[in-house]
Amino acid sequence: MAEHYVQEIVIPRRVAFGPGAVQKIPYICEDIGIKKLAIFSGKTYTKKITSDVIIPQIEDSLDFSHYTFPENVELEYLHSKAKEIKKDQSYLMVVGGGKVIDYVKVIASLTNSEYLAVPTNASHDGFSSPYVNFILREQISNFKGKSNFSKYSPVSPLAVVGDTNLISQAPKESLTSGVGDSLSKWVAVRDWKLANRLKGTKYDIYAATFSEMTANMVEERVISLKRLFFSETGVRVLMKALGSSGVAMCIAGSSRPASGSEHLVSHALDKLSHEYGYKIPHGHQTGLASILMMYLHGDDWNRIRNILLEVEAPVTLKELGIDRDIMKEALQEAQKIRPERYTILAEGLTEKAASNAIEMTGID
Ligand SMILES: [Zn+2]
Repeated sequence: MAEHYVQEIVIPRRVAFGPGAVQKIPYICEDIGIKKLAIFSGKTYTKKITSDVIIPQIEDSLDFSHYTFPENVELEYLHSKAKEIKKDQSYLMVVGGGKVIDYVKVIASLTNSEYLAVPTNASHDGFSSPYVNFILREQISNFKGKSNFSKYSPVSPLAVVGDTNLISQAPKESLTSGVGDSLSKWVAVRDWKLANRLKGTKYDIYAATFSEMTANMVEERVISLKRLFFSETGVRVLMKALGSSGVAMCIAGSSRPASGSEHLVSHALDKLSHEYGYKIPHGHQTGLASILMMYLHGDDWNRIRNILLEVEAPVTLKELGIDRDIMKEALQEAQKIRPERYTILAEGLTEKAASNAIEMTGID
């Protein structure tokens, strides 16, 4: 008998993309009825953007406070910040990259507030999804039971403002990372379908198709623009694709459409990075891992490799800055990180198979 359940979808209410999109912020705030805003940014580059570009848009019409996050923030810090602003703020705005946006997602959950996301780069799809990065999620689950973190739940952004003038100025590395994160959706959806066929995992064809389409959009634009992909036209498509990937997660009520075996490999690389001392952008890891996982799915891995090559994103371990043994370890550890998420790696990869995948895809 079919399972009966009520599906609730919470997606961003207002989305603005394009050059000068930040000029829409006062109108978006007015339409939503925002009168008071707590603005968060990082402490250097994004602090300057907030002061020079964002605050001038709203200072005449809104009451606001501007907070900056230190480099690395502990959950205790987010908890105390939440307490501090809870008294009189119900709307938050975050100006920054993935890490800062994730911190604000946590504060939004702890304070029951809503937030507007103003991403300053397009390195991955976190700016429009309710979910936080893997390491922060682990910290939160270890922290649960302490203070009010037991009530933590993912919060979708109320609005997303992607100003391509700002994002085009981000380092090229962050944009090539965005391409890698975008292409990983092809693998994530294949893993999701596999989990549905073999384990009966709930599958949502709407969210899956939507997610795959976001990677198709990037592919099409990379092929037509080639090296000019990093012009405003290309960056706009990348933003739209990553933003829509976040919306696909909102529709699915899970990160399934955007994160499969390739993200597990990336999480494993994150874990190993402490031991081996490297730091690689998220989308460079998921991009390269997508080549390998597509090979394991027996599908067209060259399609992913060719697009990464076109935008000069890493397609070899050397370019990623790690050696073969680290990748082999990551491939073997990946599924253990999230055993409940069934993927092509679920049965485990033997050392021989890991070596074969690395050799066959030419990433060595
Ligand atoms: Zn990602």
